[in-house]
Amino acid sequence: MTESDHSKTKLEDFRLEVARCIHCKACSLSDADNPSGGFHPGCPAWHAMEWEAYGGGAKMWLARQILDGQYKLGEEALDMLYRCSTCGNCEAQCENELPTVDIIEAMRAEAVKAGLGPLDKQKVYSKAAEEKRNPYNEPHEDRTAWVPAEFKLKDKADVVYFVGCTASYRLKELAVSTMRVMQKLGTDLTVKEDEYCCASPLIRVGKVDTIPKFVKHNVELFKAAGAKVVVSSCAGCFRTMTRDWPKYYGKLPFEVKHSVNFIAELLEAGKAKLKPIKGMIATYHDPCHYGRHIGQLIKSKRKRAEWFEVPRKVLRALLGDNFVEMPRNRDHSWCCGAGGGARAQFPDWTMDTSIERIREAEATGANTLVSACPFCETSLQAAIEKSGSKLKLVDIIQLVEQALE
Ligand code: SF4
Ligand code: SF4
Repeated sequence: MTESDHSKTKLEDFRLEVARCIHCKACSLSDADNPSGGFHPGCPAWHAMEWEAYGGGAKMWLARQILDGQYKLGEEALDMLYRCSTCGNCEAQCENELPTVDIIEAMRAEAVKAGLGPLDKQKVYSKAAEEKRNPYNEPHEDRTAWVPAEFKLKDKADVVYFVGCTASYRLKELAVSTMRVMQKLGTDLTVKEDEYCCASPLIRVGKVDTIPKFVKHNVELFKAAGAKVVVSSCAGCFRTMTRDWPKYYGKLPFEVKHSVNFIAELLEAGKAKLKPIKGMIATYHDPCHYGRHIGQLIKSKRKRAEWFEVPRKVLRALLGDNFVEMPRNRDHSWCCGAGGGARAQFPDWTMDTSIERIREAEATGANTLVSACPFCETSLQAAIEKSGSKLKLVDIIQLVEQALE
């Protein structure tokens, strides 16, 4: 088996990888336990469009045709190329270890270069990200407006909390909870008012020109703050800092951690105890960018399995046997449908994908759905409301905050 290389960004560098695709179509499925036999659907795009042209394998063949000069990227391929949440199910299922998401993003960069991409709604938010430093088109100077008076932001600290655009502007309560939990656990912590978007909204749709500037700005900002560790409570930012920033900057001068890992380590070191939470039966949605996008970088199967256990250990400490799994979990999770520019461009498809996840969560008997990404959570919450579900949605950090009190 060949190990995939996740350090490349240009389509022409993926010739050998795309030639390895044997068109087996395993990437459309989810190899999770299925008591009724067979496989679960795994690729939200193929599942919705009911046509294999939307699956990961077909996208690999599109790349091959472009690289072989047999097809010139044109308008007719754009729906297939951009109707993809870059969830990485295809990457996780592929026995040939094709770095499908990297290849899809490289093709999108080619589409942008050819003046074809991204699609119209994606153009709007990516332009806002470039100009306002956030894709929500909010004023940059309001980025830390969520910071309560109780937090005095310092110039320098061992740990910088990278808040990200969604928690800064849309899910501010998550930013506050993350600060509170980390401070309660004795962390020397600050937030930088001049943090820029992590650049994920640009990378995912192929707008590569501004990325180096954003990455450099953030890295230098955190370096100047003396950061030994940069912590993110957003799966998308965490993925981007871990998997993308080194491609554009080289080795980062600090460690990057997801807030759940950071807190799990402190709990394991005995820095705090969690009170069990009563009356809650919860299931966990693995955000693609926190779960398998990082899991794919871990070559040892044992260590990769341990990676998926981190949030689960915290949830078992909080809930014991009242933590239950959905059938599609860990590497085999079903995406919330929002990533890769999908939610802005294809809101109905994202809603359908999220509702499918809500139905899967309800079927476990849980009364609460827990996740670890504000971007997934805003989509899942919209799906709960739209579908009339009784599920309560909460971020794992908010549960930890509750249990620390
Ligand atoms: S990408 Fe991998 S899983 Fe998908 S068709 Fe090609 S070889 Fe099969
Ligand atoms: S990244 Fe997800 S949505 Fe895109 S082709 Fe792969 S499995 Fe389908």
